[in-house]
Amino acid sequence: DLAMYVAKGDGKNSWRRYRTDVHSGVVERLELRASLHEAAAAGQFVVRYQPMVELDGAHVVGLEALVRWEHPVRGLLGPDQFIDLAEENGAIVAIGNFVLREALRTFSAWRGTAAGQALRYVSINVSARQFRTPGFVDQVRDALAAAGARPEWLVLEITESLVLRDAEKVWADLRELRSWGVRIAIDDFGTGYSSLSYLRQMPVDILKIDKSFIDDILHSAEQLALVEAIVHLARTLKLAVVAEGIEYQEHHDVLLRLGCPYGQGYLFGRPLPPAEVSVLLATAVGV
Ligand code: C2E
Ligand code: CA
Ligand code: CA
Ligand code: CA
Repeated sequence: DLAMYVAKGDGKNSWRRYRTDVHSGVVERLELRASLHEAAAAGQFVVRYQPMVELDGAHVVGLEALVRWEHPVRGLLGPDQFIDLAEENGAIVAIGNFVLREALRTFSAWRGTAAGQALRYVSINVSARQFRTPGFVDQVRDALAAAGARPEWLVLEITESLVLRDAEKVWADLRELRSWGVRIAIDDFGTGYSSLSYLRQMPVDILKIDKSFIDDILHSAEQLALVEAIVHLARTLKLAVVAEGIEYQEHHDVLLRLGCPYGQGYLFGRPLPPAEVSVLLATAVGV
């Protein structure tokens, strides 16, 4: 065990738990943060694609783009290890723009194949700092043009807190994007603070129910009722709804019964490298 106990410096006979691995973790994160800009310039980021399915029939209808860092020393790093650091130092703008361009370009190529015709959209995560950076809307326009992609093929996933803070400017940008046909999804829905009356006015199209709600639907009647309420809420507000983190057939069955139209999760597929998506498309789409 790496834990040790050190005396608190307040003279009292109390003790504070102190983990020696905390220090090395901090140093490691500082190092990662310091190399993010360089890593973006060096092309060390790659995109994985997770299938999003229509729950009735489990056809693939879309793909969520999820970034990974191919670190030359530490190997493949997931976004939970670096996205917050990239938000801190602004590298998220370069990384996010890379994901946008790369995912749209790749998606356009798939759409151009017979097997890819059934794909409706690629869904891309946009962090608050990236969205707020002046010129974001222009970057989306440029990325669509460079990829030869239609705006209807693009879904942008944002968080509730972004839509709630600086609402005026953010909402104007959201309205502009939607006027082209781009759709807006609220990611991790249910974990934030949207009030219902606000939600009714928000310029958004899709709610993604956070995985934490799905985890417990088999064991908790309350959790099940909450998910059911979100599905009904979405229908009332004429929003599409996607359940995240579907891992078991039982999850799928329950969500179908609740009338949830779309989902994603390991049951249907993990985030895949592009070559494996091509194989999946040839075998699984539109069956
Ligand atoms: P998210 O947007 O909520 O994405 C879903 C996460 O859950 C992904 O983790 C995905 O791999 C994972 N997941 C999907 N299905 C299942 C399942 O059935 N079970 C479990 N246990 N996990 C599942 P990932 O790829 O590690 O991404 C983590 C988070 O990092 C994402 O959460 C998103 O907030 C952020 N992220 C990923 N890519 C980008 C990006 O390009 N830009 C920004 N700004 N954030 C990104
Ligand atoms: Ca997401
Ligand atoms: Ca999510
Ligand atoms: Ca999440």
